[in-house]
Amino acid sequence: MSDDIRTKIGLRPVINVSGTMTSLGASIVVPEAIAAMTAILPQFVEINDLQRKASAVIARLTGGEAGFVTASCSSGISLAVAAAITGNNLLAIEKLPDVASEKNEVILQMGHVVSYGAPVDQAIRLAGGKTVLVGQATSTHRFHMENAITEKTAAAVYVVSHHVVNYGLLHLTEFVEIAHAKGVPVIVDAASEYDLKLFLAQGADIVLYSGHKFLGGPTSGIVTGKKELVRNAFLQNMGIGRGMKVGKESVYGVMAALEAWEKRDHSGIRERETGYLNLWKQTLDGRPGVTALIEPDPTNNPLDRLRVVISAQEAHISAWDLAAALGRGNPPVIVRDHEVEHHYFYLDPCNLHPGQETIVATRLGEELDKARASNEIIATPIENRSRHRFDGVLNWPD
Ligand SMILES: *Cc1c(COP(=O)(O)O)cnc(C)c1O
Repeated sequence: MSDDIRTKIGLRPVINVSGTMTSLGASIVVPEAIAAMTAILPQFVEINDLQRKASAVIARLTGGEAGFVTASCSSGISLAVAAAITGNNLLAIEKLPDVASEKNEVILQMGHVVSYGAPVDQAIRLAGGKTVLVGQATSTHRFHMENAITEKTAAAVYVVSHHVVNYGLLHLTEFVEIAHAKGVPVIVDAASEYDLKLFLAQGADIVLYSGHKFLGGPTSGIVTGKKELVRNAFLQNMGIGRGMKVGKESVYGVMAALEAWEKRDHSGIRERETGYLNLWKQTLDGRPGVTALIEPDPTNNPLDRLRVVISAQEAHISAWDLAAALGRGNPPVIVRDHEVEHHYFYLDPCNLHPGQETIVATRLGEELDKARASNEIIATPIENRSRHRFDGVLNWPD
């Protein structure tokens, strides 16, 4: 029997070529963070002092004046919005999500209203914020934002992500310029971005990252930025932040992951990932109905992915049926299929253990060979995907 912990407890030993997904357990936690968490778990600490130490590490790596660790990037958004609404008023902090003042409006571009597993505007509303959408899905102009800011505006939220509409919207520098002209702080959701300094350098007042994505830390969120705003976000731990708390192991684990990030062999990792992409491309090139293209990350993270475009007529299987077959296989291979209705999915190389790249190549070849050998074309209606999307979770825990 395999000594894989997952098989031991009856879970499927999935191989993750979909990216950093909460639904799959985020990322491979780096050994430095695992060691740090193990070391601190049996000890008592004064938690606000530990967060002071975290603040220094976060400040050094991000260029922020201060920082702290919270449960997730999503909770970071709520805490930052809460900070902008309550300031350091401890009573107002206890009263949230009820707001005493009318100054609770939060500007958000319509093209940024995304779901990362839950809606971003809900993270704002949880903190007592009232989302004010500006522009349309694919266009925000300066006048949209300028006219939306009033004396009721508490903050403006900007999302950096492959999820957002990637054209026609205000760029961060412009967004900051318009907000700051009226004294409104800018909160940036940079959950999945590798660049720890860029958004503060572009003028954001507070920036949120996930600790468990590219950093390979424990499940957590990192808050960084202007000291007063960060402090007021930290104070929310006596209010809505309580339900979003992290323990000593996550705070210390993030500190270790950040320090490991500083020393990581980034170009070596990139090279290894490029090797995976080339292997998969070689496996796919020349197969009927399959086009494999290496593409850069849409938000300029130093990461490429392989786009696998499938013509069902020639490959004898649709992109979504191929993705599903890989996910059902042995071992299950989970591909990045957000855009599969357009007849392609991506293979993301950044969450693989060495050796898994060849299993992925083998499984791709096997499923494509099987489909080609079949006389019928496997192409279930795409509508079935949305119809049955939540079947599993709605039956949970059965
Ligand atoms: C992943 C993600 C989040 C949520 O991050 P968590 O740390 O998992 O809460 C928020 N925003 C964007 C753009 C994301 O990609």
